[in-house]
Amino acid sequence: MTADIIDGKAFAATVRARVAEHVSRLAKQSITPGLAVVLVGEDPASQVYVRNKGKQTVEVGMASFEHKLDVNTSEADLLALIARLNADPAVHGILCQLPVPDHIDADKVLAAIDPAKDVDGFHISNVGLLATGQKAMVPCTPLGCLMMLRERHGSLSGMNAVVVGRSNIVGKPMAQLLLRDSATVTIAHSRTRDIEALCRTADILIAAVGRPQMITGDWIKPGATVIDVGINRVPNGEKTRLVGDVDFASAVEVAGAITPVPGGVGPMTIACLLANTVTACCRANGLPEPEGLTI
Ligand code: NDP
Repeated sequence: MTADIIDGKAFAATVRARVAEHVSRLAKQSITPGLAVVLVGEDPASQVYVRNKGKQTVEVGMASFEHKLDVNTSEADLLALIARLNADPAVHGILCQLPVPDHIDADKVLAAIDPAKDVDGFHISNVGLLATGQKAMVPCTPLGCLMMLRERHGSLSGMNAVVVGRSNIVGKPMAQLLLRDSATVTIAHSRTRDIEALCRTADILIAAVGRPQMITGDWIKPGATVIDVGINRVPNGEKTRLVGDVDFASAVEVAGAITPVPGGVGPMTIACLLANTVTACCRANGLPEPEGLTI
């Protein structure tokens, strides 16, 4: 058996097209969704992410506000900027690129973002809203994974899902979303006993671990859908290459469907950031939620 490859790049393009369509509909009412991205310091990976986010924001017709701050920016100055963005009616989404430098308390910064503009879905209010099944801003990476799963399966009701990883940004919200869609959810982590056997019970297996190629084909139930969130850079001769948390070569022989790395979950994350910005904009203007872009 060879798994179907879930093409995240193509699906992300579809999501972006849906976003662009909503944006042009809003333009007829003279509304332009705006996304502000704040970057403190010059971390090279963060700079690439921020550039891509800005580029894609503009491509779908939204306004992009980039705030690149010096690495020595004080926490007070950063909080003052967040307060200004919270008050700015042209800004519907605010994202502070993590990690921030050590002298800044990331939790304090995330807590300062207006929950209605928290397009990353990390504010404690949104975490609580998601956990209690209410309308929330949903973290982009798990939202992208859920969209791909719904696209593949329609209903997830009654399926056994195992999420490997319990981080606040991927594992936990992913588990909440699956539960909300009536899957039976188990969360595995570094202390889980006999994790291989547990993974073999999964109809849906989500890998969000940060360990290159940890999950091999013999951990996978034949026919299962495998979503690989991991992004790991490993040596490749003189250079490096990206691999996931799943050993693609062995997993593809067993799974029913699998996301590749790169080209799976990664592209969906930015597409969902754009989707969340449109959702935030519609909510701010008292308009109906954009169909197919939110849960
Ligand atoms: P974290 O490091 O925050 O969390 C990793 C989780 O994996 C922890 O819960 C940890 O368990 C668990 N874990 C670590 N080792 C093992 C093990 N040997 N067996 C079982 N569980 C283990 O990572 P993130 O959630 O932030 O990210 C996970 C991966 O996803 C990374 O590769 C990251 O780069 C990638 N990522 C990709 C994104 C995308 O857009 N595609 C977005 C965000 C992340 P414990 O809690 O017990 O320590």
